[in-house]
Amino acid sequence: MAIDATQRKAIAAGQTLTAKYKGTQYSVQVITGEGGKLLYRLGDGREFKSPSSAGSAVMGGSACNGWRFWSVDDGAPRPASKPVKIAKSAAKPAAKQPAVKSEPKPERPRCDACGKSFVAAKQLEHHRANADRLCRPAA
Ligand SMILES: [Zn+2]
Repeated sequence: MAIDATQRKAIAAGQTLTAKYKGTQYSVQVITGEGGKLLYRLGDGREFKSPSSAGSAVMGGSACNGWRFWSVDDGAPRPASKPVKIAKSAAKPAAKQPAVKSEPKPERPRCDACGKSFVAAKQLEHHRANADRLCRPAA
């Protein structure tokens, strides 16, 4: 989870951002600070000027990209996080899928009107150019 550009623009005071770090759930509350600027207040009361510095504080001072660290808590139930890594022992080679047959491409240029196919595109051009004589749509 991360905060995408759209969510980022929508961040306003009153929102809560959450992050899970080393098995612990953290949250910051977005509040309005001096001059109407947003501040990010951690659960322990520390306030930061950016999600990155708040995230950095959570991480014990490590550099942090707050937009990647935090997620917008929209109040929706979280889907169970998917395991990112598959244990090597459990990893199975992907079953071989039969090659998906793509739509057969017309090997030859074909007149859309009458369906006649040509060996070369130039012949089709000629056919089209003289459609009144050569093109006989089956109707
Ligand atoms: Zn034709």
